[in-house]
Amino acid sequence: MSSTVEKQSKLSVMNTYQRFPITLVKGKGSYVWDDSDKQFLDYTSGIATCNLGHVPTAVQTKLKEQIDTLWHCSNLYNIPSQQALADELTKNSCFDKVFFCNSGAEANEAAIKIAKKYAKDKGYDERTEIITFNSSFHGRTGTTMAATAQEKIHQGFTPITPGFRYLPFNDTASLNQLYRGKTAAVLLELVQGEGGVNPASQDWIKKLQEICEKEDILLMIDEIQTGIGRTGTLFAYEQFDIEPDVITLAKGLGSGFPIGAMLAKEAVADSFQPGTHGSTFGGNPLAMSAGLATIEAIEAEGILSEVKIKGEWLKAELEELKTAFSSIEEVRGVGLLLGVQLSIEVSLFIDAFRENGILVLAAGGNVLRIVPPLTTTKKELKSFIHTFKLILAEIERTSL
Ligand SMILES: *Cc1c(COP(=O)(O)O)cnc(C)c1O
Repeated sequence: MSSTVEKQSKLSVMNTYQRFPITLVKGKGSYVWDDSDKQFLDYTSGIATCNLGHVPTAVQTKLKEQIDTLWHCSNLYNIPSQQALADELTKNSCFDKVFFCNSGAEANEAAIKIAKKYAKDKGYDERTEIITFNSSFHGRTGTTMAATAQEKIHQGFTPITPGFRYLPFNDTASLNQLYRGKTAAVLLELVQGEGGVNPASQDWIKKLQEICEKEDILLMIDEIQTGIGRTGTLFAYEQFDIEPDVITLAKGLGSGFPIGAMLAKEAVADSFQPGTHGSTFGGNPLAMSAGLATIEAIEAEGILSEVKIKGEWLKAELEELKTAFSSIEEVRGVGLLLGVQLSIEVSLFIDAFRENGILVLAAGGNVLRIVPPLTTTKKELKSFIHTFKLILAEIERTSL
């Protein structure tokens, strides 16, 4: 009896997230509304996921059609929309084949598995390690947590999955430790998202690609956050003048519908054959219709060129704020994945923004992460900058 009472007074959802004290019940375009009908400008985009804004009509229509037709049939049977989305993704990239799954971590799991299998198939029996980089984020499953080179993410989960070695990000000198006869693949983000919005330097990434090519090490780019137009091109790698062997996608690909994908060049993709990998839900008709509608909308509506323009405008405005406010240490990022390094606790800013009707994110290393919907308007961007200016003045007045 008393235990039931006690039980009812506690939340029955596991306590894995620190949640802000608001409940969102509705979204449209750049805005969300809470349960008291308060409106917020959403510059988190559901953590870089709702790239077309909330409930984009093009995706909504396709999903509704699919809801009335077929939800799920498993991969025991042909799913034509998988082929259609894979065609769309390969047509617009340097890759030949796609594996579909349901999340970012699963996409990275698929990448890690194919890298191991590729090494085995090639007879590289000594190549058992995958290199990742400090401050990276690759997911929360047992293996992708191990791929994530952040001590705090491993805490309490030892022994973590072996087979990963960590090197410093953007450090050319340490690249000579890369191969040593043991490396099957490298896995990295071109703009580290959760780790603090850290873009890779062009020189470093070129050097990394050179070594990978020379030693037949797979270059695998985690585009889960940077992909699907976030940086101003469909994939971020296009702007770094490299051709990876593998990329992974998730967040923006389904406009909020759960989906993940691992794209590979033919020679690598051939290492997956029936029985080597799979997923019950992966590539189901609902997810595929969300993905297809998303990619078609991004291509058709000329969104990408606008992301560049909006991103450059926003970055210039943030640089301007930096000259006026001493608590801004640095402005970083590409396209509409921007970070502001702060000298005052970032949570103060996030709370102040929320109180002023704007949702923003934090990233590691005390960084304010700004990831608007790619469809955000100039007017919304201006109102964001206006509010940021007021908040900076107020926080600096009371904290410095
Ligand atoms: C979010 C994210 C992941 C993990 O994706 P989940 O869908 O949460 O599993 C992996 N890598 C990067 C770069 C991410 O931003």
